[in-house]
Amino acid sequence: MSLQDTIIHYTSDELIRLSVAQTRGITETARKRHNLSPVACAALGRAMTGALLLAGDYKNHEGVSLKFDGDGPLGAVHVDAFDTNKVRGYVDHPQVDLPLKANGKLDVGGAVGQHGQLTVTRFTPEKTTYTSQADLVSGEIAEDLAYYLLTSEQIPSTISLGVLVDRDYTIAASGGFLVQALPGASDEALSRVEANITQIGPITSFLQDHPTGEELAGIILGGMHYKELFRQPVFWQCTCSKARIERVLLSLRDSDKQDLLSDPQVEMTCHYCGAKYVISHDELAALFAKQRKGS
Ligand code: ZN
Repeated sequence: MSLQDTIIHYTSDELIRLSVAQTRGITETARKRHNLSPVACAALGRAMTGALLLAGDYKNHEGVSLKFDGDGPLGAVHVDAFDTNKVRGYVDHPQVDLPLKANGKLDVGGAVGQHGQLTVTRFTPEKTTYTSQADLVSGEIAEDLAYYLLTSEQIPSTISLGVLVDRDYTIAASGGFLVQALPGASDEALSRVEANITQIGPITSFLQDHPTGEELAGIILGGMHYKELFRQPVFWQCTCSKARIERVLLSLRDSDKQDLLSDPQVEMTCHYCGAKYVISHDELAALFAKQRKGS
């Protein structure tokens, strides 16, 4: 069964904003592209979902890059969300696996590490607009993002992110939500949301039972006057292309170009998305010849 990945934005008269993301397809794509271990998949899936929730939050088509650089065996987790609804990402050591925690959950905090930095960069297609850092809190991703939003952007938020990996390592559920109080929200509204959230239970179990996540709004904003603002499909997508790879090849020094021409073909892999580009010797020779003619 394929389910369209989606992000849905809601707002309430009580000045509470809610975004809900369903990202099972994206996390499954990342798993296959990078051959991720379950714990690597959980870390990257949570981080990609978090980036989409943060990026979708801004209407001016800002993108968001996140780098969770902890002291755990996974190395850094790198994620970019752009155009408000596309995301890509990778981890330094995709094969790292750890024993489950005592509660049976994947040990994302142990894999990412409890000590280190979260770097957040906001950007538009033209330029970087903002880069800021916060210490990691637990390496569990959602807590780290909430702490970052509070300390660096002064936005009190509740974030919940979860990835459920099935016995056969495919993704059974992936998604999460972001709740933010707009300026002027009453303490009463905030405590109501807080109480509502406790009814959800573990987000992965909830998403397994309610795959679209749409039921979350009725629970989190229960007892309030809320409406859906908009929804959009979200996708795994990279910015790499054969044309980009060719531009890189054209920028090489002449001696390096000659070296490449001695091989039957050139293979390049994009580390962001795992896409492999193969350029044959004839294609490469034609590309370089065209450049010589043009210059
Ligand atoms: Zn790529």
